[in-house]
Amino acid sequence: MASSNPKTINLVTGGAGFLGSHLIDKLMERGEEVICIDNFFTGTKKNVIKWFNHPNFELIRHDITKPITLEVNKIWHLACPASPIHYQFNPIKTAKTSFLGTYNMLGLAKRVGAKFLLASTSEIYGDPEIHPQPESYRGNVNPIGIRSCYDEGKRIAETLSFDYKRTHNLEIRVARIFNTYGPRMLPNDGRVVSNLIMQGLKNESMTLYGDGMQTRSFCFVDDLINGLIKLMNSKTTGPINLGNPNEITILELAKIISHKLCIKENFIFKELPLDDPLQRQPIIKEAKEKLNWYPSINLDNGIESTIDYFKKL
Ligand code: NAD
Ligand code: UDP
Repeated sequence: MASSNPKTINLVTGGAGFLGSHLIDKLMERGEEVICIDNFFTGTKKNVIKWFNHPNFELIRHDITKPITLEVNKIWHLACPASPIHYQFNPIKTAKTSFLGTYNMLGLAKRVGAKFLLASTSEIYGDPEIHPQPESYRGNVNPIGIRSCYDEGKRIAETLSFDYKRTHNLEIRVARIFNTYGPRMLPNDGRVVSNLIMQGLKNESMTLYGDGMQTRSFCFVDDLINGLIKLMNSKTTGPINLGNPNEITILELAKIISHKLCIKENFIFKELPLDDPLQRQPIIKEAKEKLNWYPSINLDNGIESTIDYFKKL
């Protein structure tokens, strides 16, 4: 007999990845049903293995550049490689995932009337000329550079989402996620937090690109996931910045990590990659006012638990 109070069925694309698997943990802990789709390009089954025998969980190996038919209520669209070395590995595939993948997931949302949340990025601001960045800033993106497959990919993903809302009245949510770190980042994914911690743990020199004076604002994964859930369950379409406004230089970050690892500072400076943004800091006024969301985990605590994770690997 059909239940009179059916459970929410969540589809998480990219659910075996870093952010996706943390999101799945939260949804499963809330007793919701979760279907995880992943092609395991940068994700791994290990990230979701604890749910394998749970009746509320299903894992589907699928590439979202191909359509899929499912009955779901909420689509959390996270599938896309996020670290520069991974999204630049096969840039045409990254663009396909961003465009065709988002198009297929929006088509699915339209067909079944599901709510759709896009994991967009601060990269849509490019190398920003306005600092810090509000949602109204339209960005400074090089359309033909090595980061474009990702930056422009996410921009067209936002465009598609808003056109599905305007054309088909789809309920969409767009989160612009700023640099997020924490347990389950891949040790070799090239992002700065994982790189510096792994280099420190192996007693290697920490690689700093450029003069290390470029800035980022790092958000711990638990805070970010809370923001995504609040956004999905709110009446706010976005785009909305989700990130920790605590801005630091990469050099400062390397010093903090060296200190936490109790090792001597040992840095090697390398060329700054093309189009690497020089500064990045979110304005999160919208998220505070509309979602009552703001990050609560400071860099000290977040880096400590990330180091603990990498030590155990
Ligand atoms: P991740 O690489 O760990 O996760 C991405 C997941 O998507 C992986 O499991 C990968 O295998 C899967 N995937 C990639 N292409 C696919 C395809 N064609 N079909 C099916 N699955 C595919 O990255 P993450 O850090 O967890 O990022 C998740 C999302 O959040 C991405 O969309 C990313 O752009 C966005 N985001 C992340 C950050 C961050 O700092 N982590 C910042 C801004 C935006
Ligand atoms: N970075 C660095 N050393 C590294 C990896 C990255 O100095 O080993 C720099 C990189 O050039 C960038 C910043 O750290 O300025 C953040 O890089 P990441 O790839 O983590 O994120 P994104 O550039 O996408 O914000």
